[in-house]
Amino acid sequence: MLLTLSTTMGERPASDLGFLLHKHPERAQSFDVTAGKAHVYYPRADEHDCTVALLLETDPVELARQARQGGSWALGPYVNDRPYVASSLLAVALGKVFRTALAARCEARPELVTRAAPLRIELPAVPHGRDRELPRRLFEPLGWEVEHEVLRDPDRGETRYGRLALRGEHPVSEALNQLYVLLPVLDDAKHYWIGQDEIDKLLRAGGAWLASHPERELISGRYLVHARPLVDEARRRLTGDETDHDDTTETRPLAAQRRAAVLEVLRTTGARSVADLGCGDGKLLRDLLDDTEFGEILGVDVSTRALRIAERTLRLERRSERENRRIRLRQSALTYTDSGLAGYDAAVLMEVIEHLDPERLPALEHAVFGHARPARVVLTTPNSEYNSHYPDLANGMRHPDHRFEFDRAEFAEWTRRVAGTHGYTVTSSGVGEADRRLGQPTQLAVFTRNDLSDRDATP
Ligand code: SAH
Repeated sequence: MLLTLSTTMGERPASDLGFLLHKHPERAQSFDVTAGKAHVYYPRADEHDCTVALLLETDPVELARQARQGGSWALGPYVNDRPYVASSLLAVALGKVFRTALAARCEARPELVTRAAPLRIELPAVPHGRDRELPRRLFEPLGWEVEHEVLRDPDRGETRYGRLALRGEHPVSEALNQLYVLLPVLDDAKHYWIGQDEIDKLLRAGGAWLASHPERELISGRYLVHARPLVDEARRRLTGDETDHDDTTETRPLAAQRRAAVLEVLRTTGARSVADLGCGDGKLLRDLLDDTEFGEILGVDVSTRALRIAERTLRLERRSERENRRIRLRQSALTYTDSGLAGYDAAVLMEVIEHLDPERLPALEHAVFGHARPARVVLTTPNSEYNSHYPDLANGMRHPDHRFEFDRAEFAEWTRRVAGTHGYTVTSSGVGEADRRLGQPTQLAVFTRNDLSDRDATP
């Protein structure tokens, strides 16, 4: 799938386009995007005319593989619909490759950002579905001169795809934002999006022009309504609110794999009493309660809402009195010392630290490792390097509430420092399907208090 944008830039050197796009005209660049590669290059860049090309190479085998392995892309059923894949993925690639230009930022030539330039945009194949007039209805009200030629199949005649050429005077960032929203809208019913705040994103990209667009109902309807189930699916898979219970590790959602990995550590280290710190919706607590080896279980969270949800997950009213005696929930902030958290064989901090402002992290380190001092701490956190597998994350992180995410080097350094400061020994591993370059999606560290690891070491 190819998109080209050409301009004369009016009275400026045309190659100034490179500043606006933050892509140097003399360098071809490639970016990893979902199941493929996006290449950016300039077929022409001189004083008078400048054309930038965004070429998206999708790899159908990789798409199918990711769908099978429960990646965040539910493309399985659509893999063969190449124009669709290309069209929706093209918008995602655009969002990634031209992120800064879409945000209308240009430190090198700030005066260019708001200036309209004569532009030509060409797309050799865009879908229009049953409505051949749709491309016109979408782009003409925005001031584009639209050339749309429906593509024909030699046997079956008119297809639902067409060649689209747009001409008009627009600021480059505005044109890119329009494409970002409208390319997927053209591809009705098969549109998917990954992101927590798709409404915000629509408003951000469409803010300047969408409100007065005669088709704004259709645009926002398609953008949001059709995105919903898929967004929900992406969210479920990322946050682990899964509904399936597949047994094989590879197809289980990451959150389920994480719980399994944490449970495995707790079992093999022989923990009997476990405090789940930042227990959230209580799924790990449920797994712990279902295993009678864990005789004493504590769920802690700062959020009373989370604790109410955990209570529902646990269905305590349906459980025996004996089970009820094994578990307690407690509201507490992990950035304050709490003697109620002391004396446990193991504490779990699963996907919690990244929710704290970095400057509050030392307070948690002190409260957990310095004060509560469980024999073991099992801790997980995202590996930020892996995020390029989730293009288009709203804030560049896995969850809107994340305050930071560690790459592998940062995590290694942090765990070593915390262990050293508080008298623990640490070993690290990961959870989830490994990428040769980027590692695994989740980082997992097991801290063992030194008096125990010394004892473990003695035969
Ligand atoms: N451990 C769960 C939930 C992770 S979400 C899981 O892996 O599914 C992070 C949780 O940490 C949220 O429930 C949030 O309320 C809780 N949390 C965030 N900051 C906290 C703090 N300072 N003290 C206690 N809990 C906190």
